[in-house]
Amino acid sequence: MRAQGFDFIVVGAGSAGCAIAARLAADESRQVLLLEAGGRGRRPETVVPALYSRLFRSSVDWAYRTEPQAELNGRRLFWPRGRMLGGSSAMNDMVYVRGNAADFDGWAAQGNDGWDHASLLPYFRAAEADLWGRSGGSADRWTAPRTADFLAAAERAGLTGNDGFNGEHQEGVGRHRVAQIRGRRVSAADVYLRPVVDRANLTVVTGARVTGLVYCGQRVVGVRWVRHGHAEHARATSEVVLSGGAVNTPALLMASGIGDAAELRRLGIDVRADLPGVGRNLQDHLMVPMCWRSVEPTSLIDGRRPGRILEYLRHRSGPLSSNIGQAGAFVRSRSGLDAPDLQLVFAPVLLDGIRDERVVEPTEHGYSIGAVLLQPGSRGRITLRSADPLAAPRIDPGYLTDPADLATLVRGVRLALRIGGTAPLAGAAKAPHRLADADDDQLISAIRAGIDTMFHPVGTARMGCDEFAVVDSTLAVHGVEGLRVADASVMPTITRGNTHAPVTAIAERAADLILRGTPVPQTAGGR
Ligand SMILES: Cc1cc2nc3c(=O)[nH]c(=O)nc-3n(C[C@H](O)[C@H](O)[C@H](O)COP(=O)(O)OP(=O)(O)OC[C@H]3O[C@@H](n4cnc5c(N)ncnc54)[C@H](O)[C@@H]3O)c2cc1C
Repeated sequence: MRAQGFDFIVVGAGSAGCAIAARLAADESRQVLLLEAGGRGRRPETVVPALYSRLFRSSVDWAYRTEPQAELNGRRLFWPRGRMLGGSSAMNDMVYVRGNAADFDGWAAQGNDGWDHASLLPYFRAAEADLWGRSGGSADRWTAPRTADFLAAAERAGLTGNDGFNGEHQEGVGRHRVAQIRGRRVSAADVYLRPVVDRANLTVVTGARVTGLVYCGQRVVGVRWVRHGHAEHARATSEVVLSGGAVNTPALLMASGIGDAAELRRLGIDVRADLPGVGRNLQDHLMVPMCWRSVEPTSLIDGRRPGRILEYLRHRSGPLSSNIGQAGAFVRSRSGLDAPDLQLVFAPVLLDGIRDERVVEPTEHGYSIGAVLLQPGSRGRITLRSADPLAAPRIDPGYLTDPADLATLVRGVRLALRIGGTAPLAGAAKAPHRLADADDDQLISAIRAGIDTMFHPVGTARMGCDEFAVVDSTLAVHGVEGLRVADASVMPTITRGNTHAPVTAIAERAADLILRGTPVPQTAGGR
C-alpha cells in the first residue's frame, strides 16, 4: 500500500474489529488502519431486518461449508459469515443477549483475570450505550400474533416471564432485545465506524484481503494483503490486532506460521510459534427447528405483500421490520444445573425452509420453536487445506461427538413440543406436530436429520494459560510479540446466548487493554 506506518492495524471490520478500530482511533495521537476483505455492505438486505437470509451466498458472504458431519447423517452444514463492513453483525439475526454471568465467571476461573462478569459489565454497558442510547434496548417494533401466543403458552407450560435476558436473571421466557433502531438493523459498522469514519487518524480500506503477517524476528511489525489483484502491505509500530472471526483468524494465524508446528511443516509453512491450540476448541450452537403449519394465513412471509412493503417503507414496522427470532427462553433442562443449558427461539415463520443448504424461503404460513444446545460438550477444529492463504480452510465442527449433547437436545425438543401443544399456541396449529408422541429414538433420528447451526462459531484461538491456549488474558498471542486476537475466537467456552454481544464486550475490553498500555508480553513470557 504505502510506506506510511500506523500505530495499530486491525484486521477485519466485523463485530469486534469495528469496535476496536473506533475505540483506538478515539486517541487522536494514534494512527489506526482497519482492513476489511469485503466491501461497504450498503445493500437493502443489510438494513431491512427480515431480509438478511437473502445475503447468504452473495458477494457479502464468505459462504463456508463444513466437512460432512458423521453424527448428522453425513450432512455438510452451510456457514454464512459476513464479508463487509460490520462483518457478521451486518447479516445476523440481531438478537442481543449478553450471556449468563456464569459464562464469564467460568472464563475467569480458568485463570483469565479480568474476564469475570462483574469486570465485563462496564464493557457491555459501553457497547449498549452506543447501540441504543439510554433506552437499555428495544424489542422488535412489531410483534406477530403467534409470537404473543408463544409467550402465553410458554408461561402456561411453566416458564417464568422475563422482560429481557440481560438483567440479573437470564432464565425465563420473553421477547428478545434486538440490534435495531426504528425498524432498521444497526450493525457494528453503524454503531462504531460510521460516526468516526471521517477521522483523520482512522484509515479504513475495504476489499483488502489480509494474507499474512510481516515479522521482524519474533515481532509482528505489519501485515500483507491483496486488493484488486495487487499485493500491498503496511507496518504497525505498536501492534496488530486480528479480528477476522472464528474461522478466518485461526486460518490467518496458521498461514502466518503460528499453529501446530508439525502440521505447518507438513504444509510447507515456516513455523514462527508452535501453538497447537490454534484452530482447536471450535464450539458452536446447534438448533433443532420444530415447525407447525398454522391455521391462520399469517406469518413473516406476509412481508412480501405490497401492503406490508408499504407499511415498512412508511412506518418501518410490520413483518419486514422483524428480526425473525422474535422471542425466546433460557431454561435449565434438568435439576442440578446452576445455569441454563437450553435456549428456545421462537420465529413466526417456518424455519425448516430457510435453513440448511437449501435456503429456500417458505411458501406456507406457520411458526417454529428452535431448541438450542447452549453448552455443547462437542469440540471441533479449523485446519488449513494448503499453504495458500486464499484457500478456504477446512471446518470440522465435530457436531454431537459428545453423546451428552444429544441427551440435552432431546429434553429441549420435548420442551418445545410441550409449549407447542399448550394453549393458545396449540390452537394455532393446523395439526399436532408429527413428533408429538415420538419416543427418544425417533426424536434422536429427527434431531440428526434436521439440526442446524445457529451461526455462532467461537473458541478457535482461545484465551488461557495451558499448552492449548493461543492468547493470554490480555489477548496477546503466545510466543510472538506485537500481536493480539480480539474476536469470537478467543472465547474459552461458548456463552449461553447469541454471540454478537459478548464479542463486542471482548472488543471493548481489548481496546481498553491496548490503550491503557498493557504491555504485550515478551516472547519468553510464560503462559
Ligand atoms: C446468519 C447469522 C445469524 C446470526 N445471528 C445472530 C444473532 O441473532 N445474535 C447474535 O448475537 N449473533 C448472531 N450471529 C453471530 C454473530 O454475528 C457473530 O458471533 C459475530 O458477528 C462474530 O463477530 P467477529 O468480530 O468475531 O466476526 P465477524 O463479525 O464475522 O467479522 C470478521 C470480519 O473480518 C473480515 N475478515 C476475515 N478475514 C479477513 C482477512 N483475511 N482480511 C481482511 N478481512 C477479513 C470479515 O470479512 C468480517 O468482516 C449470527 C451470525 C450469522 C452469520
